[in-house]
Amino acid sequence: MPKAGIVTVVGKPNAGKSTLLNRIVGEKLSIVSPKPQSTRDRIVGIRTAGDVQMILLDTPGLLAPRYLLQESMRSTALAALYEADVVLYLVDGMDGTVPRLSEVAALDRPVRATVVTVINKIDLIGAGQREEILSHNPGAAFISSLNGDGVDALLERLGTLLPDSPFLYPEDEISTQTVRFFTSELVRETALEQLDDEVPYSVACEIEEFRESQSPVYIRAVLHVERDSQKRILIGAGGQRVRTIGRAAREKIEAFVGSPVYLDLWVKVLPNWRRNPHSLHRFGYDTPEDRSS
Ligand code: GDP
Ligand code: MG
Repeated sequence: MPKAGIVTVVGKPNAGKSTLLNRIVGEKLSIVSPKPQSTRDRIVGIRTAGDVQMILLDTPGLLAPRYLLQESMRSTALAALYEADVVLYLVDGMDGTVPRLSEVAALDRPVRATVVTVINKIDLIGAGQREEILSHNPGAAFISSLNGDGVDALLERLGTLLPDSPFLYPEDEISTQTVRFFTSELVRETALEQLDDEVPYSVACEIEEFRESQSPVYIRAVLHVERDSQKRILIGAGGQRVRTIGRAAREKIEAFVGSPVYLDLWVKVLPNWRRNPHSLHRFGYDTPEDRSS
């Protein structure tokens, strides 16, 4: 009997969730950034190997919400947590301690799934530190999402924990998201790479047009920010920064879609979009109300 089910990757911002997901699925599905909270949506990756199919959910950080976008992120993460067959609780080994998931996530009811605690970034910690963590967390797995150490053994263990089930998706499928969605994530990721401080969290990317039938593929993308000052930063002196972002993003999109791309990139101000439910919906983010209804 094959096995299939949902593995939800959860953990503090910056623990390495997106890096791990990309490694497991073998494609760059979820954006990776040294800046925390770069993952806003629940990214679905699918891995089918042998007779095991894992549907992987990446979660935005389970942080205390300060504004509507963060509430959206937290409710998305919680929903993924309660849907899971297995919860992969990822902890940055550099943190030294492993707080309980229920505390980190401030859960008001227990998850039904088996929780596997996984210590990440073992490439950065010594053997002594590892022993220390293991003594307090006997069942923990140790991995490096970056170089892949321990990941195969972890996948094997996760597979045994999934329910007996026929595959839920075709074997060659790696995601349920659209090319358009990944394109907007690649543009947003590239913008994040070029920005410091608070600006990145105010950037949303919207694909206004995507014409695949022509060569090069024509894509018009808009980076939305919340204030004029942010727009000026994003555009840069003489348009230098937005051009750099556009060029780098185009190269990533070309690698992803496998054909030449013309990227028409714009920057616009949408005041306070992170606090506006209509804007959040427009950019594809759920709000807590969507889930309770
Ligand atoms: P997320 O916020 O949990 O999704 O974390 P990301 O996957 O975006 O990773 C956060 C940062 O940690 C990035 O700079 C990654 O390159 C880095 N990182 C992730 N996994 C590892 C690892 O195993 N070892 C090291 N050294 N760095 C890692
Ligand atoms: Mg992430």
